[in-house]
Amino acid sequence: MTSTESSSVANHAVVIGGSIAGLLAARVLSETFPHVTILDRDELPTRPEHRKGVPHGRHTHGLLAMGYQIFEDLLPGIGADLIADGAVPADLQNDVIWYNEGHLLRRTTSDVGGLLASRPLIEAAIRSRVAALPGVEIRTGVQVTGLTAERGHITGVRLAGAETLPARLVVDCTGRGNRGPAWLAELGYAAPPEDVVKAGLIYSTREYERVPGAQDFLGVIVGHRPGNPYGAGCLAREGGRWLVTLVGLDDDPPPIEPGAFEAYAARLDGHELHRMINEAEPVTDPIRFRIGPSVRRRYERCARLPEGFIALGDSLCCFNPAYGQGMTTAAMSARWLATCLKAGSVSEGSDLTRRYFKGVARVVDVAWNITVGNDLRFPQVEGPRTAKVKVLNRYLSRLHRVAAEDTAVGAAFLTVANFLAGPERLVSPGVMWRVLRGTDGRRTRASGARQAAPVQHAAQVDDRQRA
Ligand SMILES: Cc1cc2nc3c(=O)[nH]c(=O)nc-3n(C[C@H](O)[C@H](O)[C@H](O)COP(=O)(O)OP(=O)(O)OC[C@H]3O[C@@H](n4cnc5c(N)ncnc54)[C@H](O)[C@@H]3O)c2cc1C
Repeated sequence: MTSTESSSVANHAVVIGGSIAGLLAARVLSETFPHVTILDRDELPTRPEHRKGVPHGRHTHGLLAMGYQIFEDLLPGIGADLIADGAVPADLQNDVIWYNEGHLLRRTTSDVGGLLASRPLIEAAIRSRVAALPGVEIRTGVQVTGLTAERGHITGVRLAGAETLPARLVVDCTGRGNRGPAWLAELGYAAPPEDVVKAGLIYSTREYERVPGAQDFLGVIVGHRPGNPYGAGCLAREGGRWLVTLVGLDDDPPPIEPGAFEAYAARLDGHELHRMINEAEPVTDPIRFRIGPSVRRRYERCARLPEGFIALGDSLCCFNPAYGQGMTTAAMSARWLATCLKAGSVSEGSDLTRRYFKGVARVVDVAWNITVGNDLRFPQVEGPRTAKVKVLNRYLSRLHRVAAEDTAVGAAFLTVANFLAGPERLVSPGVMWRVLRGTDGRRTRASGARQAAPVQHAAQVDDRQRA
């Protein structure tokens, strides 16, 4: 290799997968690497359109508050652009109806702001901004088939058709079905240990017309629970539509026959969604998606990894999507990658790979514990039910019961579920006292917290959008 070639390799990072995680990773890498190439096997649309490589993109997606904040930090102005394109900003405690373990979380105005939009719109907005960054190239229709490495260092990727692309750093963002562990095995590295939890869920999704202001909410989230294993996620999206996803276990999945789909919603906790979809005009036929297992790849436990290998997004950890954590966890991981790069890039031999995986495990921990802890309440779900999980689940059951009356407890839950505070917030003395004191609904009304008028608030959001 000539010195020019070797310096150009040192300046080059490759991101495999040009979806949400890959685009955010490329944004971060562009601060350190003069050349960043994103490779995706799909032909990526320039407009917000569904595509083959992201079949889950047709189902309800919402962006949690922390994800929204990081998107804005990394790509300033993206929120305003998305809202201009029809995305719906939402106060997640006031504009969204939450049923947790059968309890309706009491609504009030809050600082927990999320963004509701279809996944193709979110991806297209990120992609147009990342594609415009100096030094970033997006190559589409390119299938990566493996990695290359020499003397313990990543040296590039192999592409279908025998081409290789040299690079000093490679980020695997190939999503749920990724082959990162197999690619590492081809280079002689042991596959990472995996945590796997099978929740056995099926999603069915249908879109409806949304008449702004006709409902006093912008979304309905119904958590499935052992006593009632039917759940739902319904969120407003751009284009004046509702995206409605019904969730069931695989032995009794939500139907995809029109009519039967709407009837199934009668099984949900709460009547709001059932009533709404029986009144609204459907605009698509229902479609189905089988949720694969939640898989967490424990790269931080690998004894050996090639320096310059990173995994981020669903390829590192994919969850039962019930809590809408995927895009936000990818954003938080990208932010951690930026922190690691600032402390020393791979070209400086600074142990970047080990530092990244060690720290990102803490990022993933929170989301993983929330989702898997909930999944393990179902007796048919296999997994380690530690004493900690059992105690925490009993405490959360009580918390949800109290949050039906006490808005401060509901705010604590949503703040943690949106990653605005760590899980310790739920057991802080103030919250714990309210939870333990509030053993029945009558004694738990929040002192001083005013119940907002949700109809007015949702209508105001719609008015802002029309303006
Ligand atoms: C039904 C469902 C609902 C969800 N709802 C939410 C929600 O409400 N909120 C939320 O935050 N998250 C949600 N998620 C999770 C969210 O969709 C993902 O976490 C997020 O899209 C990040 O994915 P990713 O970029 O890691 O991977 P993906 O989006 O899966 O993208 C992987 C990319 O890699 C490309 N690729 C794969 N293999 C190769 C290869 N060999 N060579 C080249 N390219 C390759 C693919 O074409 C694709 O573009 C949901 C997920 C599902 C399944």
